Amino acid sequence: MAKTAAKKPVRSSVRPRRPEPALLFGDRWEYDPAPETADPRLQARYELFINGRFVAPRTGRYFDSLNPANERKLAEIALAGEADVDAAYAAAQRAFPAWSRLPGAERGKYLFRIARLLQDRAREFAVAETMDNGKPIRETRDFDLPMAAAHFFYHAGWADKLEHLAPGRKVAPLGVVGQVIPWNFPLLMLAWKLAPALAAGNTVVLKPAETTSITCLKLATILQDAGLPPGVVNFVTGAGETGARVVAHPAAAKVAFTGSTEVGKAILRSLAGTEKKLTLELGGKAANIILEDAPLDQAVEGIVNGIFFNQGHVCCAGSRLLVQEPVAEAVLAKLRRRIATLRVGDPMDKNTDVGAINSRAQLRRIAALVESGVREGAELYQPACALPAKGYYFRPSVFSGVTMSHRIAREEIFGPVLSVLTFRTVDEAIEKANNTAYGLSAGVWTDKGSRILRMAAELKAGVVWANTYNKFDPASPFGGYKESGFGREGGRHGLLDYVRAV
Ligand code: NAD
Repeated sequence: MAKTAAKKPVRSSVRPRRPEPALLFGDRWEYDPAPETADPRLQARYELFINGRFVAPRTGRYFDSLNPANERKLAEIALAGEADVDAAYAAAQRAFPAWSRLPGAERGKYLFRIARLLQDRAREFAVAETMDNGKPIRETRDFDLPMAAAHFFYHAGWADKLEHLAPGRKVAPLGVVGQVIPWNFPLLMLAWKLAPALAAGNTVVLKPAETTSITCLKLATILQDAGLPPGVVNFVTGAGETGARVVAHPAAAKVAFTGSTEVGKAILRSLAGTEKKLTLELGGKAANIILEDAPLDQAVEGIVNGIFFNQGHVCCAGSRLLVQEPVAEAVLAKLRRRIATLRVGDPMDKNTDVGAINSRAQLRRIAALVESGVREGAELYQPACALPAKGYYFRPSVFSGVTMSHRIAREEIFGPVLSVLTFRTVDEAIEKANNTAYGLSAGVWTDKGSRILRMAAELKAGVVWANTYNKFDPASPFGGYKESGFGREGGRHGLLDYVRAV
């Protein structure tokens, strides 16, 4: 007689999950204010820095630099006109022969001294940068200043090793380099531009952004203290018109521009047909991709860092979050809980996570794009947090239900605004990530190493971070594809853009 096996009840090996404890501290107690008190040693008025000296502009005109955290005037900045830009280029041309012939080890010593002096005055510079830019003191103190010094140190090391830059080929500096930088990392962008140009033996005319000139002009005092020969570095201040003069000047052998894609395109058009070398570091709309096997708590920290660092005024900000469908709800819930703990407000308070938007104009741009997101049907989440009555502030914002056709999924917002989209397969994630005019950076969060390698190869982005975000190193080249520009900054590749083969 055949035995019939008694049917055993099927037991699941998966235990029911216990609800996760929420690690919430930020809303449990109020922090005492922790204001930074170091003296930024600001002057009431800043002149141009030409031929090693501070000189009044020949235009006779000045403009105000405001503190975006309270709209108070910080200082008057000289407005450089045509004659001033000419004088800066003339000084840089005069300084070029001696500077370029200096043994590399000697040039390296100047760069090393600049780095050391910057470290010595780091706190003073951090405070000045926070007041001029609006970013939290925690960031200027722990990121902008150490990174700026690191770029000078790194390039000091290259100055006497240029024969190893392009093995088998001799290289020479280009001549006078014209550089124009934006306001989001004023001192750091300046270090990215200045350090490789000087290490390679070029001389420089640089224009900082009109809303953030102060740390550039403070750095001029460090150049003086380092004994840098007059004319090797010249700073001209002003807005777009001054920038256009720096770019168009016939004495510029190379132009290096960091800023918006719109201005980058205009520069590219204006330089067509000339022999000037050009590098463009432009905008971005990076995808930060969360796969279902990712460590979600770490990923949420990476998302927050990716979009709310520096109020989202970051070219490589992870402004498009792509989440795999099975974990989308869980990620959104954790994200909302986390951003409710962000402290928004006075950038000079050491507790502040999100500071002030750099200018009224930028605040308006952000608000207009957020309105477009709401109008086009995306769902907006903003934590309830009180904003200071004066100054330019914007609440951390997360849009869910975003589609690829929404403006907030396509245009660079350059503010604390995240657009969340979902995907089902890895192929779909790659396609959506690459479906943009930009190609500066991307992030991938997954437990699986082989998937990271595959996605890094297929994502059309200059930088791909895996299980982290916004990590920088002077030895690592940074730059974009497509409308994010061309050329690299940092590392051996960055230096190659400042030399020619001979
Ligand atoms: P912006 O293009 O308006 O200005 C950048 C600089 O160019 C400023 O100094 C400005 O005065 C100057 N300028 C303006 N018009 C000019 C002209 N016609 N000719 C020459 N110079 C001119 O950009 P922004 O608003 O200051 O900066 C934000 C942009 O910078 C964002 O798009 C951001 O993504 C980009 N950015 C890119 C990188 C990168 O490495 N790719 C880094 C930081 C910022």
